[in-house]
Order: sequence, then structure tokens, then C-alpha cells
Amino acid sequence: MAYHSVVLVKQVPDTANITGQAMKEDGTINRAALPAVFNPEDLNALEMALQVKEAHGGQVTVLTMGPPRAADVLRQALYRGADRVILLTDRKTAGSDTLATSYVLKCAVEAIGTHLAAWDLVFCGRQAIDGDTAQVGPQVAEKLGLPQITYAEEILALRNGEIVARRALPLGTETVQCALPCLLTVVGSANVPRPPNVRRMMAYKLAATPFDYPELLERWPEFETEEALDRYLAERDQRILVWNAADVGADYGRVGLAGSPTKVLKVDFVSLGASDNREVEDSPQELAEMVRELVQDYIL
Ligand SMILES: Cc1cc2nc3c(=O)[nH]c(=O)nc-3n(C[C@H](O)[C@H](O)[C@H](O)COP(=O)(O)OP(=O)(O)OC[C@H]3O[C@@H](n4cnc5c(N)ncnc54)[C@H](O)[C@@H]3O)c2cc1C
Repeated sequence: MAYHSVVLVKQVPDTANITGQAMKEDGTINRAALPAVFNPEDLNALEMALQVKEAHGGQVTVLTMGPPRAADVLRQALYRGADRVILLTDRKTAGSDTLATSYVLKCAVEAIGTHLAAWDLVFCGRQAIDGDTAQVGPQVAEKLGLPQITYAEEILALRNGEIVARRALPLGTETVQCALPCLLTVVGSANVPRPPNVRRMMAYKLAATPFDYPELLERWPEFETEEALDRYLAERDQRILVWNAADVGADYGRVGLAGSPTKVLKVDFVSLGASDNREVEDSPQELAEMVRELVQDYIL
């Protein structure tokens, strides 16, 4: 049996390459000053979905919610093997907390099932490296009424409308079984994500959303109008599908700041001063004493 997987991916600031301008004075992230990357565990989720397709047949649809430039992660997904990608972008979703984010994503996943193709599996990364809550996957599952397998490390079997998967937990592993459709949140130890494929990079080298058209028209003035460019891209399967919140049937009262009960009251900067440092001599006794103190303080 072939399976249709939907993979939720997020574009995140590259927190591994923080510069001095990473934070604004008010404590919010200065996203423009940070390079944007594919959330690492979402690459593991995509890889797991692609492996399902390779083993059983089917298709992989990748969805991201974010600003227009989040289309970059969708191009990355196409280069790796996704069959279809969707950008959900809407200014009114800005400021969404996890409750609002998961609501819009739930509406979008339902819309994929209604308008494009019924799905069997929804994959998320375990956690995004910016928001860091690990709440979105479980909340989407709850809102869709799906069973969820969190911390999924390997799919052991897919048969007779059921899935068997191994979960990676801090003190061991757990093997669980549930009915399809279901949602999995995937951990980084699950697999080694494949790199972009050169042939697919060539095949999708023009993949664009309408937000890219003004820049493309400057490069290709021969198209003259956005409509002409749009037709050209659509005929060649290079037009990235774009939805807004209304397209997926979301209620605007439940998205963005209006739909977000979480309020960030205060942001504290943690800076370690000189008094937090202590020099330790390179001797077995000193090191043993340091480890003893760290254990005593519950740091280790
Ligand atoms: C009060 C408040 C205000 C906020 N305001 C803003 C703001 O103005 N701008 C802003 O950018 N962020 C804002 N955030 C952060 C935003 O809520 C989170 O980034 C978002 O809800 C996702 O949560 P997370 O990053 O913790 O994801 P996690 O729960 O850690 O993500 C788990 C997985 O869910 C999926 N996922 C998560 N987000 C998306 C997405 N957007 N598209 C597709 N899949 C996804 C991915 O598979 C991901 O691996 C705000 C948060 C709060 C609490």
C-alpha cells in the first residue's frame, strides 16, 4: 500500500551562528541579522517520510508556515525529494504562539486532505531550535484528533492500517503501535538526512512563489508581466503553491496575537560574570573535586 505523508517544516534563525546583533534592545530576536536555516529535526522528519515513500510508494507533501522567505526551505525539500510543497503565509498570523500556530497548521493539514490528497501520516520535527517548545507537533495531533508518536526514532512496520515505531527516550527506547492516520514527531538520532540531489536542483531551479516574481521579472524582462511569468512557471511545475489563513478555513480570531493567550512579560539576559568562573588545576585531585561539586550542585 502507498502512503501519503505530510511533513511540517519550519524555517528558523541559525542559532549556531549567533552574532552580536542577534537580539534587539527590547529582547526580541533580530531575525534579519541571522541566517535562516531548515530546522534540523525537520530534516529528519522529511527523511523519514521520504524513506516511507521509497519503501512503500506514495507521495510526500511539505508544508511550512512563515514569511515569504520561508519558501527557501520548501525549495530545499523539493531538492531532497518532496513531491509537492506549500507555503502558508499571512501577515495576520504574525505573533502566533504555539496554540495559534498549531491551529493554523491543523487547518492547513485538513485542507491538504480535502483539496489535494488524503493523507496517512503527518511528520513533524520534535522541536524547533528557535521557539524550542516542542509543543506544536502534539498540539496539531490533538486538534486533528490523531494518535501521536512523539520522539519517533524509527518506523519498524507499516501494515494493515497500523504503524509500529520505536521512540527514543532519555533512559531507553519504547516500541509502540497505533492505527493510521497518525502524527509522529521525529528526533535527530532517527536518521542522517540526505543532501540535496543535483538533478532535482536542476529540475526545480526555477521554483518560485508569486512573492519572487518582481525580482524574477528584473532578471527576465522578456516576460513583461507577472501573469506571463506565472503561466510559464505553472506549465513547468515550478510554481510553489501559496495559501493564506482564509484559504485553509482558519478563523482569524484564532490566529496571530488575537489567538495567542501566551504573553512574553519579560526577557532576561543570562550573562556569566567573573565571579562565576574558577580556575582548576590540571591534577586528578582538583578535577575529582570539581566533578564532586558539580554533582553536589545537581549540574552533572
Ligand atoms: C507570545 C508569543 C509571541 C510570539 N510571537 C512571535 C512572532 O511575532 N514571530 C515569530 O516568528 N514567532 C513568535 N513566537 C514564536 C512562535 O510561537 C513559535 O515559533 C511557534 O509557535 C512554533 O513554536 P516552536 O518554535 O516552539 O516550535 P516547536 O513546537 O518546537 O516545533 C515542533 C515542530 O512543529 C513544526 N512546526 C513548528 N512551527 C512550524 C511552522 N511555522 N510551520 C510548519 N511547521 C512548524 C515543525 O515540524 C517543528 O519541528 C511567539 C511566541 C509566543 C509565546
